[in-house]
Amino acid sequence: MSISSLEQVRNQVVSCTKCDLCKTRNNSVPGKGNHNAEIIFVGEAPGRSEDKIGEPFVGPAGKKLSDALEYAGISRESVYITNVVKCRPPNNRVPSQAEKESCRNYLESEIALIKPKVICIMGNTAYQSILGGKNITKERGKFVKKDGKLYFLTVHPAAIIYNQKLMDSLKNDMKKLVNEIKKM
Ligand code: SF4
Repeated sequence: MSISSLEQVRNQVVSCTKCDLCKTRNNSVPGKGNHNAEIIFVGEAPGRSEDKIGEPFVGPAGKKLSDALEYAGISRESVYITNVVKCRPPNNRVPSQAEKESCRNYLESEIALIKPKVICIMGNTAYQSILGGKNITKERGKFVKKDGKLYFLTVHPAAIIYNQKLMDSLKNDMKKLVNEIKKM
């Protein structure tokens, strides 16, 4: 299935019933941001606040991301933010393989339509889903090229809520990412 516009992605996500997460969600959470963004940020899945409002990264983790972007000198409005799965898994459990497969086309369409310079993967689950990687704590701060796309790895902002030291990691990663983007 090919999707020809971000508006179409949004409309399909809002009414999607392709996996069982539609039964427990309050709102599905389409990606949001600049349609000409140079960077797409991808997390694992919506959390409680996002499910309530229907927008990505609006809770405490979203605040951490905004702060790190501001530190790096770019605004949140200049980037596009989305998740591997667009509906909240109950109790924030890790999305199943089947759920990720069901939702895959939406993320692929967002990337294909925006054509960002870099796809910034946030956290282990997104890292595993998109690149089959593990141990983001060790790999963070690195660029990875795969299938003609350029990825950058960083921690999930939600992890900072439990470990404040990771805020420096996120801020430093964002600074590195923004500096490299300027040279591209
Ligand atoms: S998680 Fe994705 S595939 Fe599943 S219902 Fe939500 S939008 Fe559809």
